[in-house]
Amino acid sequence: MMKIACISGITGQDGSYLAKLLIENNYKVIGLVRSYNNLNYENFKYLGINNKITLEECDLLDFSSIINILIKYSPTEFYNLAGQSSVGGSFEQPIGTINFNTQSILNILESVRLLKLDTRIYQASSSEMFGEVKVLPVNETTPLHPLSPYAISKASGYWIGINYRESYNLYCVNGILFNHESYLRRPNFFIKKVIRTSLEIKNGSNKILHVGNIDIKRDFGYAPDYVMAMWLSLQQDIPDDYLICSGESIYLRDIIKYVFDYLGISHDKLFVDKTLFRPTEIKDMYGDNTKARVSLKWEYTKSFYNVLDILIEEEIINFKG
Ligand code: NAP
Repeated sequence: MMKIACISGITGQDGSYLAKLLIENNYKVIGLVRSYNNLNYENFKYLGINNKITLEECDLLDFSSIINILIKYSPTEFYNLAGQSSVGGSFEQPIGTINFNTQSILNILESVRLLKLDTRIYQASSSEMFGEVKVLPVNETTPLHPLSPYAISKASGYWIGINYRESYNLYCVNGILFNHESYLRRPNFFIKKVIRTSLEIKNGSNKILHVGNIDIKRDFGYAPDYVMAMWLSLQQDIPDDYLICSGESIYLRDIIKYVFDYLGISHDKLFVDKTLFRPTEIKDMYGDNTKARVSLKWEYTKSFYNVLDILIEEEIINFKG
């Protein structure tokens, strides 16, 4: 029988790559969108999946809206990827971020519980939940100390997932993903912004790259490989939580240097703008992906310079100036 997967946040980077992966694996994919009005089909078109998804309007803050979808499709798997996904944006919209990112997963789990469905649920958790860490690399047992409204919302969603698993035996998995990038990343995110702006500087349509604190380190990976881990995590007999990361961190300053050198841009085109610094910032963060590699048989071998090469080349091909 054909497997049915619901994906919330399907228009985003991960939702689009995951939809492609599931379609290739013969799933019927139901994409949940907040509204048909102003729906952005660009990512679907880019991946060639535009007419292969069934789209449904679903307000994840409205319990009955989710119940209706679950009754209509009885999905085998439900990937909850919708969310206000920007850490910086969460300082500007703390209430909206915390409300949406926690209430949505609670509504989904409660709906599945009340309808007594066997649906397997994936919750998009984040490495940001760890925040202030004493020991690196972090792993699945590292205590959480979130440092932003976004991180607090994700920590809350993570514990809600665990609580429904332990209290009601629901199949719920937390994928604790570290930063992962692709051509489909939204333009306000650091690496996409660096590459786009660098291309604009190169063609003369921009003069300078404005950035916030770049003397911090992060663990970055490649989004198409990370959605594979999401799917694998729902194929296990027993639900569990998995950390998905590359295993090493890199200075944001070194990323800019690499992109500038790749494109032949002078280093004086960089401006560090202290007004863009966040109120609190994680200095360094990288994870240990042993559990995902051993238990999920997830394979990840790309260095972040490999990923940067892919991202720069893809951006050059699609750059319209
Ligand atoms: P993304 O590109 O920003 O996509 C976010 C998705 O959520 C979009 O489809 C967006 O819909 C939807 N959304 C946002 N606010 C919503 C709201 N109020 N109501 C309904 N839908 C809403 O994010 P992503 O990179 O694919 O990430 C997917 C998930 O993984 C997110 O929950 C994110 O927090 C989490 N995560 C991402 C990373 C990463 O590095 N990418 C790392 C850890 C965790 P619209 O198109 O309508 O705006």
